[in-house]
Amino acid sequence: MQISYPQNDAIYPLQLECPCCGHRTVVTRAEHHYVCLNCHWQRNLSWGGSRTLGNVLFFVITLFLVVVIFG
Ligand SMILES: [Zn+2]
Repeated sequence: MQISYPQNDAIYPLQLECPCCGHRTVVTRAEHHYVCLNCHWQRNLSWGGSRTLGNVLFFVITLFLVVVIFG
């Protein structure tokens, strides 16, 4: 069985809580690009960019929430 992923312009609702406005409207538009549909907060978690503790912490929390929701 082969799994096909949507293209880059597709969005993936994650039900994640936005760290800026607190609404669960955070989606991901690319592999490491998170956007809030409510307040337009966004963060790019690409490892090629600046690797700050906040980015790492957000990634860990995101991963944890995904596991909790879908696990
Ligand atoms: Zn927001």
